[in-house]
Amino acid sequence: MRLGVAAAVVEGELVPGDVDVADGRLAAVGLTSGRAGLAVPGLVDLQVNGYAGVDLLHADAAAVQELGEALLRDGVTAYQPTLITSPVEATRRALGEVAAALDAGRGARILGVHLEGPFLSPVRAGAHPAAWLRAPDPELLAPLLVAGCPVTTVTLAPELPRAGELVDLLVASGVVVSVGHTDADAAHAHAAFDHGCRTVTHLYNAMRPFAHRDPGVVGAALAREDVVVQLIADGEHVAPEALLAAWRAARGRFAIVSDAIAATGLGDGSYTLGEVEVTVEGGVSRRGDGRLAGAVRPLAWGVRLLVELGVPVVEAVAAATSVPARVLGRSDVGVLVPGRPADVVVLDDSFAVVRVLQGGKEVVARR
Ligand code: ZN
Repeated sequence: MRLGVAAAVVEGELVPGDVDVADGRLAAVGLTSGRAGLAVPGLVDLQVNGYAGVDLLHADAAAVQELGEALLRDGVTAYQPTLITSPVEATRRALGEVAAALDAGRGARILGVHLEGPFLSPVRAGAHPAAWLRAPDPELLAPLLVAGCPVTTVTLAPELPRAGELVDLLVASGVVVSVGHTDADAAHAHAAFDHGCRTVTHLYNAMRPFAHRDPGVVGAALAREDVVVQLIADGEHVAPEALLAAWRAARGRFAIVSDAIAATGLGDGSYTLGEVEVTVEGGVSRRGDGRLAGAVRPLAWGVRLLVELGVPVVEAVAAATSVPARVLGRSDVGVLVPGRPADVVVLDDSFAVVRVLQGGKEVVARR
């Protein structure tokens, strides 16, 4: 099946010409007589708290699958369900439901769960309920790692007492440790990265602000070459200059996430983010105390934002595909390679998602 596109992002390069998909795989690229649109790898979102009316902390397996189908419609073919800080029992229950959804295999592919908390800094908790934050404790963590769906990422604050023990335990178990919701100074940040933390959760947000003599996690992560920075590209969480500065400092290791909540795709109103009541007004989600609480823009919206800010198309696409896939060590998602299964998104000239193929099967067609 020819997609009729004018170009494709193939193995990180812009290849002019049409794309052919056959037997579920990318059969050929660079073919003549393509018309319009850009074929890119299916998007990979490392931080999805909810979507299209579904909050992952409260969802049953069927609702998780509905969420996965809504993500697919917006071009996300693989994602990390993300559970924010809540009572441990609620987290365990949610892990079981996500595991059941993973087995069912409907919608965007579940890459594993991202536990955002509960080992976060009380002074950088953001929208996370302070009552459920916990001091790092291997005995609290252990049951969560075997509660159902595999945990692939844990976000924690490395400056907390005993956080180093958790980092070592998680790294040894193959779980990605992401630095976030943290008041760490640069020295603590470097120590965490040296111990195997290889990424940062929503750079700038919920962390000590960058200052020239106190650069914190932001400065440490941007100054190194071995850390992937993740940012929320919803146009609200980070100013354009800060987004661009991070991209320029971290080209090739710059990822965007949606940090989407249940309100995504539904418009203004009242919603829940885990145990937290939030109000969405004009595309911005806040708690009652005015703090930002998750985001409501699809990941593809962020790709378009990067391009509008001047990021080359191939790098904007990589920030939402191959770079986040690399964080999880997944070479099977986030990249188009001839001969491999075809998870393909076709974007039109305004970067709207017009077609989605999963494993070569057309699952979305807006033409
Ligand atoms: Zn967060």
